[in-house]
Amino acid sequence: MVVVGAGLAGVACARELAAAGVPVSVRERAHVPGGRMASRRFDGRPADTGAAYFTVSDPGFALLVEEWRAAGLAREWTDTFVSYGRDGRREVPGPMRWAAPRGLRSLVEHLARDVPVTVDRLVLGVEPGPRVDGDPCAAIVLAMPGPQAALLLDPALVAATAVVEAQRWSPTLAGVLRFPDRAWADFRGAFVNDHPLLSTVCDDGDRRGDGAPVLVAHTTPEFASRHLLQPTAAAPAIEEAVRDLLALPEPAEHVHVHRWTYAKPTVAGRGTYHLDADGIGLAGDAFGTPRVQTAWRSGRDLGRALVGRLA
Ligand SMILES: Cc1cc2nc3c(=O)[nH]c(=O)nc-3n(C[C@H](O)[C@H](O)[C@H](O)COP(=O)(O)OP(=O)(O)OC[C@H]3O[C@@H](n4cnc5c(N)ncnc54)[C@H](O)[C@@H]3O)c2cc1C
Repeated sequence: MVVVGAGLAGVACARELAAAGVPVSVRERAHVPGGRMASRRFDGRPADTGAAYFTVSDPGFALLVEEWRAAGLAREWTDTFVSYGRDGRREVPGPMRWAAPRGLRSLVEHLARDVPVTVDRLVLGVEPGPRVDGDPCAAIVLAMPGPQAALLLDPALVAATAVVEAQRWSPTLAGVLRFPDRAWADFRGAFVNDHPLLSTVCDDGDRRGDGAPVLVAHTTPEFASRHLLQPTAAAPAIEEAVRDLLALPEPAEHVHVHRWTYAKPTVAGRGTYHLDADGIGLAGDAFGTPRVQTAWRSGRDLGRALVGRLA
């Protein structure tokens, strides 16, 4: 069994298979697992450049989160964000948001500890058989955004192709802004409404718990789509918008921009995963609301379905 993609969905699926004694390997094109639960190090300190936090409502996911918490990897962050909009700034209570002191990627790495993940392994093609890059296998799981899966799927695999082609995705740019000092009024994270450029800004030092003067801003899909070819050129505009929003007196020392061409699905797929008679499985956050918990549940459910099919 081959799982392509070591984001949370792929790793959750592989873990389910491995726990049932099914031989499985995971192939990941990046240097590290994690996918959109992405943390990048700046001068040795990780900042979350993908998902900003996660929330928990599924009892099965809650058990996993408890494991992460017990291992010192996850912590409750805040249930209160601020909201900026036409009516000014106000506090908005919401669900408890969880963060990871070592970055959200550390959670996927922890989950992947018992499954064989090969990194730096770009998969190029999935053909009927099923075969992955020419190798036959019992089944193949594509755990990634639909447009990335579409690049791999032979059109003869009609059922899976139809599912990925029905998905719609929106882009985001993530700007990591490192300042000399924490010069902003106390806040944890902000939803920015009706803004031409910003959608959220989070205090990365607060969510990490080390108080570092680092903010991470996510842009609107509209702004991102105009800068996909040259995301770094958007850095000055992102910095200006954040300084303006939070009335910051000093410029950032360093701004890094990360491009997410497929940040979030905009249409929820049916069910929690796809598995067809061709032996192709699809998992990820497109099967529900675009959330960390959705990705985990999708991978877990597909793993269980594959175990059931093999039995
Ligand atoms: C900017 C941003 C902000 C977000 N904010 C939040 C939030 O606050 N809260 C929340 O709950 N969720 C948030 N999300 C969503 C959350 O990150 C995702 O739901 C979740 O991480 C998706 O996991 P996944 O495993 O489905 O996909 P991914 O994490 O995308 O994993 C797919 C993996 O497949 C790999 N891959 C792709 N193609 C190939 C190939 N050909 N060969 C080998 N490997 C391949 C990729 O490298 C990647 O590692 C956010 C996402 C983004 C981008």
